[in-house]
Amino acid sequence: MSIDAAIPMPAHAWLNGRIVPFDQCVVHARSQGAFWGANVFEGLRGYWDAERQDTAVFRLQDHLGRLSRSAKCLRLGIAWSDADLAQACMDVVVANDLRQDVHMCVVAYFDMAPNCDPMVLTANTGVHITATAAPRTPGYKDGVSACISSWRRIGDDSMPPRIKTGANYHNSRLAHHEAVRNGYGTTLLLNPQGHVAEGPGSCVVMVRDGRLVTPPATSGALEGITLETVGVLAETAVGAQLEYREIDRTELYVADEIFLCGTMCEVQPVVSVDRLAVGPGVPGPITRRLQEAFDRSVRGGARAEWCTWAQAAEYRTGQPAVGVVV
Ligand code: PMP
Repeated sequence: MSIDAAIPMPAHAWLNGRIVPFDQCVVHARSQGAFWGANVFEGLRGYWDAERQDTAVFRLQDHLGRLSRSAKCLRLGIAWSDADLAQACMDVVVANDLRQDVHMCVVAYFDMAPNCDPMVLTANTGVHITATAAPRTPGYKDGVSACISSWRRIGDDSMPPRIKTGANYHNSRLAHHEAVRNGYGTTLLLNPQGHVAEGPGSCVVMVRDGRLVTPPATSGALEGITLETVGVLAETAVGAQLEYREIDRTELYVADEIFLCGTMCEVQPVVSVDRLAVGPGVPGPITRRLQEAFDRSVRGGARAEWCTWAQAAEYRTGQPAVGVVV
């Protein structure tokens, strides 16, 4: 397998109960997960703490909770408990020993059905977990430009955004690729009613007159864990409550600040929409304060229960994860 990568590939992954060499973390081409994106997944970040020599995985239990809600909606049975998957995540982090911030993907997938039928609901399912090096995204500091996509966000009556399934990301990819082709950093999608939904892989928040506003999940946004975190932090960091209500496209044009919230992009300023500057066209003071508060919280600062340390005593199973080759 040849992977043209800018970052070094990790040595190990977790596949259906075992630590395996990264290259052997494969599913069959005709599995329903690979063929139709029939899977559910979570993306998590792990933050490396050089002083502690350990990685804090952010809001692990919340991500596993959302994974099982997605699986329920798709009637996908996961053969491992949340406790098993938490242990597996820690084993992957420890086995790879990347000593930097990582992005983890926990994926539960429908495997092959009889006759390679991609439609039938099969009880043959699996899970894979990977962790790759993930430096902070470039737009974090200077912000990104955004356009309003010509693609509409999927809806609960067709492809529910609440279900975090690979298949939904066809919509995100169409929108993202169009935006990049047209010279933007990212894009924001409207829902079929013409209200703002979210970005291809993040929720969106606008600041108007000191108020923080975000579309509710019923507008077609994922129930974001970063967004919820920002809502908690906002009360002390900027003295504001996060309001959930519909947002019009032109409200984005007149907003004082806009930022994205997502595991990968963290809290990322948006500095223009459709080539109109957001405020003065640079990241705003409220966004900056929230970035600082967020940064403190992911590195173990805010709430202890948000950070799961990979080498915590409860995750030391006594079985060396490193170098286990099947
Ligand atoms: N919306 C979409 C479509 C996403 O893929 C993500 C990333 N998981 C988000 C929002 C943000 O969710 P979270 O903060 O839980 O990563």
